[in-house]
Amino acid sequence: MSASQTSPLVSSEVETRPDKGLSTALEANGVRADFPGLFTANGKPWHYLDTAASSQKPQKVIDAMSRALGADYATVHRGVYGRSAQMTLGYEAARRRVADFIGADSEDEVVFVRGATEGINLVAQSWGMANLREGDRIVLSMLEHHSNIVPWQMIAERTGAVIDVCPLTEDGRIDLGALEDILTPRTKIVSLAHVSNVLGSVLDARAAADLAHSVGAKLLLDGCQSAPRMALDMTALGCDFYVFSGHKLYGPTGIGVLWGRKDLLEDMPPWQGGGAMIEKVEFARSTYAPPPQRFEAGTPMITEAIALHAAIDYVAEQGPDRLFAHEAALAKTLREELRTLNSVKLFGPEESAGIVSFAIEGVHPHDLGTILDEEDVAIRAGHHCAQPLMEHLGVPATARASFGLYSDDSDIAALLRGIDRTLKIFA
Ligand code: PMP
Repeated sequence: MSASQTSPLVSSEVETRPDKGLSTALEANGVRADFPGLFTANGKPWHYLDTAASSQKPQKVIDAMSRALGADYATVHRGVYGRSAQMTLGYEAARRRVADFIGADSEDEVVFVRGATEGINLVAQSWGMANLREGDRIVLSMLEHHSNIVPWQMIAERTGAVIDVCPLTEDGRIDLGALEDILTPRTKIVSLAHVSNVLGSVLDARAAADLAHSVGAKLLLDGCQSAPRMALDMTALGCDFYVFSGHKLYGPTGIGVLWGRKDLLEDMPPWQGGGAMIEKVEFARSTYAPPPQRFEAGTPMITEAIALHAAIDYVAEQGPDRLFAHEAALAKTLREELRTLNSVKLFGPEESAGIVSFAIEGVHPHDLGTILDEEDVAIRAGHHCAQPLMEHLGVPATARASFGLYSDDSDIAALLRGIDRTLKIFA
């Protein structure tokens, strides 16, 4: 492509252009000012387009975490003194808040884990070891994150179960027609991304659940990319397990959630032993607490849970439905703008969540990322922990711009200016 292929958004006057038909209401509400991480050291706007990897945190979350680590701090569950009792109330209130946010029937279905990765490992090791036998089938899809591949490979090796891979439609969605063909009565679990972290494709979770259940299999949804941008209702989704990470939901690192249907969790053995997960310990044998405590061995992520509560309150204030529409509109605009550039190849479906993967002919995504960094634009470049998907797409890496509730068209304009500069450098 020649440098004269300049996108109409690339001009200095577009920095705050309000005329693109985008929802800028969130920005107008002052959302951006809530996030200290969205500014450079010089106080200039930082165009953070890597929210799918980890989101920036609103001040309310930082304050909640700081209070919990400071004046309010004590451990939970065992203390006989008032501060510990207060912290226990705070920790358990966070569990109830999560249950309410995701439409769980009961807070007993909410297990605090370190993140989505740990949640999937927990299900693979606990439910998997109890339920998978030699020759049973585990179904994954071509677009899964390594976190939703490797734990299943590890358990397949130990149990003799076999992994089947569901292909994608041409535009990069999990092919539910193909899923139907793959399922057999030996399929025991189907584990799929609700929203792809690379392509932004959104799974019809209810249809996937119905298909899985039609052969008696369970459905685990990897909700890492859906929890931060969609209104959730576990009953409506119809899944059996759902996992997400707090740090992608405007909360802190080190905490995530495994939601599991109560009857399933009750039947699952513990996966880690230690304090807090027991009923009674004797040297001859120990008995275990009911879920969710059965799966929370050791001192839990107390301050992280309290900060996650604050993050969920913040997201709920914004309205999760509004977030999806806002980010999807940004993704659509970015796709339209990139399509005007001949050397840009776009991946994924037209209708997607706020995640756009692309490649520029003759420019390695890492070079693009480095040049954009000089322009205070942060994108992701690499395989996005989805190497099988990269192989399927026939590329070693893509560039990925992902939006959050604080993103607006000034971020798109800055990205396009940076791409324009990159094209000039590589011309
Ligand atoms: N699944 C998906 C779809 C993801 O995007 C991610 C994070 N990139 C993960 C799983 C893993 O999340 P975490 O590293 O927070 O456990």
